[in-house]
Amino acid sequence: MFEYAPAPESRSIVSIASTYGLFIDGDFSDGKGTFKTINPASEEVLAEVAMAAPEDVDRAVAAARRAFGPWSALPGAERAKYLFRIARIIQERSRELAVLESLDNGKPIKESRDVDLPLVAAHFFYYAGWADKLRYAGFGTDPKPLGVAGQVIPWNFPLLMLAWKIAPALAAGNTVVLKPAETTPLSALFFADVCRQADLPPGVVNIITGAGDTGRYLVEHPDVDKVAFTGSTEVGRQIARSVAGTGKRLTLELGGKAANIVFDDAPIDQAVEGIVNGIFFNQGHVCCAGSRLLVQESIADELLDSLKRRMATLRVGDPLDKNTDIGAINSAAQLAKITELSEIGSSEGAERWSPPCELPDRGFWFAPTIFTGVTQAHRIAREEIFGPVLSVLTFRTPDEAIEKANNTPYGLSAGIWTEKGSRILAVADRLRAGVVWANTFNKFDPTSPFGGYKESGYGREGGRHGLEAYLA
Ligand code: NAP
Ligand code: MG
Repeated sequence: MFEYAPAPESRSIVSIASTYGLFIDGDFSDGKGTFKTINPASEEVLAEVAMAAPEDVDRAVAAARRAFGPWSALPGAERAKYLFRIARIIQERSRELAVLESLDNGKPIKESRDVDLPLVAAHFFYYAGWADKLRYAGFGTDPKPLGVAGQVIPWNFPLLMLAWKIAPALAAGNTVVLKPAETTPLSALFFADVCRQADLPPGVVNIITGAGDTGRYLVEHPDVDKVAFTGSTEVGRQIARSVAGTGKRLTLELGGKAANIVFDDAPIDQAVEGIVNGIFFNQGHVCCAGSRLLVQESIADELLDSLKRRMATLRVGDPLDKNTDIGAINSAAQLAKITELSEIGSSEGAERWSPPCELPDRGFWFAPTIFTGVTQAHRIAREEIFGPVLSVLTFRTPDEAIEKANNTPYGLSAGIWTEKGSRILAVADRLRAGVVWANTFNKFDPTSPFGGYKESGYGREGGRHGLEAYLA
């Protein structure tokens, strides 16, 4: 093995202000107090951000309401021009945005640069294309926007989740108030500047920063017509309760515990790459992560040997280094959760393994980890860890694989690795998961709907289906 020289991306290409206000009605204004956002790789404070109080949420919703009439009355082709403009500005400024996202979130620059940002632009381009074709989307001959959308997003793909929420909402003629996660507000505030650069009319997009309470005020606001939430199943449940009976439309994208199923005829090297991508991409902070590996017993030893060899080559460290595979864990709280569940895995009798790897002294880090000898009763086989931790189970027959894969309260995604097309189709058909990948994993495309069954939530984002959530 050879060593890599450091190859850091320059952080000076993005300028970060020391303070940020709330983006309401096209302008930045103060909230009630502030909070700090840090770089989880160094614990350095990046900026102070305004905390939106209930009266600020009122102001933002009122601005979105005022903007709704004129925005929804624009011909679709005119709304499309703004969305195309936003998409192009994102492409032009993607280096700045990628560095900003990696700084605030901790994800490796090669992911923010090569995955998040291209997908963000692609989402705006895709939904820009729908804005003047809504009558042909399959939701009636004269579909209407809903009004003001209150949108709350998590920290794992800050800008991508913003794009999934804002692009279809605007294309369909709605206006939005969006709350980014507390630990990752900066790319959403940068996006506010992109909206200004695109001359988007004031009030069409409002960004309010704050903690969980700000999100709660927003989703409970009586003048919000549609709530879109991505985050934990626990908060999703609270929101479902508070929205019930109000007449608001609701979509929920929640957690997952995906099975990645490897059959004995799978190409082992490709499967190993897919397993690594499935669980170590974005430090495993992925709702559709392939966090349960189901491997056919006859190839388990061979596959695990290859997987361990591959894991030993993963580079953990500086997110801005172009050779980094695994960056920082997003927050101290998330690190504590991953650490606790991993300790429970050991104490319940599973066997833990990580490659030797040196972790930086400052910041939040967790070595890539696998647990073997896991049974379905183990908590690490049932609960979402949301970190770089893989639970390995074995099976003997396809029926057993399907039964184990479906034995979860979630139903967001799954993976199948086999040489036989007929087996892919037969197994995929019986998996209760919204997205099933075959001989690949974690592939996303704006044209393809994404969403779950059971406790993974309801509604679909992406594709033509994603428009339905914003049209009546
Ligand atoms: P979370 O606590 O549910 O937070 C998500 C967002 O909701 C954040 O902006 C949060 O604000 C806000 N929030 C917190 N309490 C709220 C409340 N009572 N009412 C309204 N909003 C509230 O989730 P997390 O722990 O940050 O994120 C990890 C979880 O999200 C995982 O379980 C993961 O599976 C899930 N997730 C799902 C998807 C998907 O597409 N299905 C994607 C990503 C993540 P603060 O940041 O200030 O707490
Ligand atoms: Mg941060």
